[in-house]
Amino acid sequence: MTAQRTLALLGATGSIGASTLDVVARHPERYRVGALAARRNWQAMATLCRRFRPQLAAMHDAVAARELARALAGTGTEVVAGDEGLVAVATLTAADTVLAAIVGGAGLASTLAAAHAGKRILLANKEALVMGGELFMDAVRAGGATLLPIDSEHNAIFQCLPPHTAALDARAVQRIILTASGGPFRERAHASLAHVTPDEACAHPNWSMGRKISVDSATMMNKGLEVIEAHWLFGAPRAAIDVVIHPQSVVHSLVEYVDGSVLAQMSNPDMRTPIAHALAYPERIESGVSPLALASLAPLTFAAPDLARFPCLALAYAALDAGGSAALALSAANEVAVGAFLAGRAGYLDIARACDATLGRTTVTRVRSLDDALAADAAARRDACAVLGLPPTQMEGMAA
Ligand code: NAD
Ligand code: MG
Repeated sequence: MTAQRTLALLGATGSIGASTLDVVARHPERYRVGALAARRNWQAMATLCRRFRPQLAAMHDAVAARELARALAGTGTEVVAGDEGLVAVATLTAADTVLAAIVGGAGLASTLAAAHAGKRILLANKEALVMGGELFMDAVRAGGATLLPIDSEHNAIFQCLPPHTAALDARAVQRIILTASGGPFRERAHASLAHVTPDEACAHPNWSMGRKISVDSATMMNKGLEVIEAHWLFGAPRAAIDVVIHPQSVVHSLVEYVDGSVLAQMSNPDMRTPIAHALAYPERIESGVSPLALASLAPLTFAAPDLARFPCLALAYAALDAGGSAALALSAANEVAVGAFLAGRAGYLDIARACDATLGRTTVTRVRSLDDALAADAAARRDACAVLGLPPTQMEGMAA
């Protein structure tokens, strides 16, 4: 019988959090929930705590933490708050597995702490890896942690690589190919997008996700972040990472070998498949996802991405080439701009404009510590606010 794993879930109230708990609840003999963390929705958290009975629950927001503590009095769940609370969840001694599903740079410090603590990290929070880069990978090595990708493309690549390969073997693997749906604006000219609303941008044709990643999918910044994520996860040089548009989101990514073989991973677009894969790896468990009905699928099509239509993808390539803090600055600027767009304080096209201008203003430095990362994050957020004409106090940073 397989030993039971204890899970700490960062970002419990979000879309990935819900999919994770759905899979976990299907296998109570295999998984126990040790700790949960979220930002400020204490009512949703109270419901989850009553159901999964974790030993620890963290709310990043201190007021929400007080409300949660009151709601859970006498239940046996200890409630903690703030940055320290997130780190306490990520490093809980009783938990062997940490599922990192906070959105944005707000997840970096806790995910880094999980790496230092040698946890088995199931990574959805791609911004943490994009922003932490070398620092994050060094922490994984130093802490003896295991990093398993949840992001569907990276999980697909991981499944298509030879088993037990930590890094890509250039003698065997020629290219990794990330698929991208192209989002809701795949066929619209860039200039025609000036007045699209947040709801239009969030109406993803295939996936149901949180609002930030939905906007990132529309701009294709999401794919840009994923190129950088693939670089770090698989040790792949930029030249060995390609992006192909595949509107049906059935082929989740591919690996091309030197002999001409191309392996693909296919499944319905439901995050419970990659989550179940990473939870059980190297075993397999049932995920609740319906079988792929091959014969009734729409035709599967593939096309090259148009970088003029999707300038954010080109910016991510530029940031990866620039190295150091460039990707961190790009991701931070994107968070500010997407936040402003979702709040009705910036237009859709301002997202690419703010990212471009912030990257242009960034002095690229090496990120050697969490303090370096926090400083670069704050500087990029200030720059992005200035470009967007927003007060610099408006946009939360990693340490907010
Ligand atoms: P979401 O907005 O639905 O959920 C975000 C979660 O993060 C919530 O639980 C929220 O409380 C928590 N959070 C936000 N700020 C926080 C803070 N400062 N402190 C503590 N918790 C905080 O987002 P999501 O769609 O679940 O995405 C989560 C992450 O997973 C993102 O990095 C996203 O890119 C990645 N991801 C998501 C999907 C998907 O299908 N949703 C797919 C691939 C990757
Ligand atoms: Mg993805």
